[in-house]
Amino acid sequence: VVAPEKLFGARRNSHGVEFGDRRALAALLRSRDRAPSGSWQAAPAVGLETKPASEVRSPSDGAVVGTVRELTSGGARALMDRAAKAVRASETVPARERAGKLRRAADALEAHEGEALQLLLREAGKTLDDAIAEVREAVDFLRFYADEAERVLGAPVALPGPTGEENRLLYRSRGVALCISPWNFPLAIFLGQVAAALAGGNVVVAKPAEQTPLIAAFALRILHEAGFAEESLWLAPGEGDVGASLVSHPATALVAFTGSTETAFAINRALAARNTAIAPLIAETGGVNAMIVDATALPEQVADDVVRSAFRSAGQRCSALRLLFVQEDVADRMLEMIRGAVRELAIGDPADIATDVGPVIDGAQERMLRDHMDAMRAGGGKILYEAELPASLPQGGHFVSPAIVELSGPEKLPGEVFGPILHVVRWRAGELEQVAQAIERTGYGLTLGVHSRIEATQRFVAERLAVGNVYVNRNMIGAIVGSQPFGGSGLSGTGPKAGGPNYLARFVREQVVSTNT
Ligand code: GLU
Repeated sequence: VVAPEKLFGARRNSHGVEFGDRRALAALLRSRDRAPSGSWQAAPAVGLETKPASEVRSPSDGAVVGTVRELTSGGARALMDRAAKAVRASETVPARERAGKLRRAADALEAHEGEALQLLLREAGKTLDDAIAEVREAVDFLRFYADEAERVLGAPVALPGPTGEENRLLYRSRGVALCISPWNFPLAIFLGQVAAALAGGNVVVAKPAEQTPLIAAFALRILHEAGFAEESLWLAPGEGDVGASLVSHPATALVAFTGSTETAFAINRALAARNTAIAPLIAETGGVNAMIVDATALPEQVADDVVRSAFRSAGQRCSALRLLFVQEDVADRMLEMIRGAVRELAIGDPADIATDVGPVIDGAQERMLRDHMDAMRAGGGKILYEAELPASLPQGGHFVSPAIVELSGPEKLPGEVFGPILHVVRWRAGELEQVAQAIERTGYGLTLGVHSRIEATQRFVAERLAVGNVYVNRNMIGAIVGSQPFGGSGLSGTGPKAGGPNYLARFVREQVVSTNT
């Protein structure tokens, strides 16, 4: 039996000897010679009005990673005007050709893995494990949507012609697709949205999160070099005002958005206020994701899966575990094990290969999480564990202690708390339906974990709850492109699921041509 304290540490150490990780690490080390920190830049196309250049700082130590020129609102509108002019040229490129360019971009991203890793470490504060997984996911998205473009959009669909006419279903581009992406997956989600929109033959305007414009600029450079014309693929760095100008512009024919639920509602309202065209919104937002653990679960596996789900990426995944429901009969033992495993997590600089938990993205997130812990200490919950931050942490970083908080009931959780804090609620045997109701009341429906060896329980949970991704007897993060299409419903988003067989269809317009032959 492995001592609980060793669980996470053992898994972590074995990662270092995997082939893929070594190769990625070697690429990272090579790239250090070529790309000194501070030298990266992000800017929109020339001729567009921008604010003065500003510095992008690392969440790990506050050091300058590079500089960005953000658009003004006027610059954003002018960008859309220019993008709209390229629609005709880009919709005539055949799907197979678009797929070829996406595959070239995937090859180039693999070849530049070291630079991508370094940007993810510095600009986004990702640990090496997370950064490696993210580059792989980004490459997967590029190849997956290339394949999908050929499978779904490759040729017109012949439809029945009982009246003697010839009926053909065609997939055409929608026009200008606006992609608005988050800082927590600044490469994989950014490229996933953009690749799908390009696969559909659209002109793409990509607005990265204001915290991570440099990775976005790097990713667009790769796509441009792979053959997508500058006029058909635009970088739109900026803050909320830029996003608002882009959304409300009449040329915007579709918005793909990943980020907060609140912003998704704002985008929906802004789209509804236009009277030019009714543009669809694909939104992927957050979740108050639960895991249900019953008395038949394997404790060691639960401990490992809980720790991964709640604390990997410093809890900054929309899939992350927020609310653990553990059956009363085994709760003390289980929580002791989980606490032991959390105590083993190495909190530190992402540049250190041994680090499990890096910083959160910025000062605002750090303050939000500290305020939440203060509210919990002031009576909202019982603190079961709160890590002490090591004295060796770099100055100027945004580090937050991983913590476990027990709540007297799930309603004590104020909403999605985006960070390394796990909340726990006990439930009694025979009250599974009440647990399901509590999860339902959150209004979210993204991920759900269940740890039970009773098949009826596994089935009940999956069928009873309207969530996008159910994970049985495993951790609940890290959905694999093509195998575990990702996305939820309710307050968690609109669908279709990213990396799934129905995603691309939303990025195109359907047209039927009926010819009297
Ligand atoms: N797809 C990621 C996962 O399965 C989460 C994406 C997100 O955080 O937006 O962990």
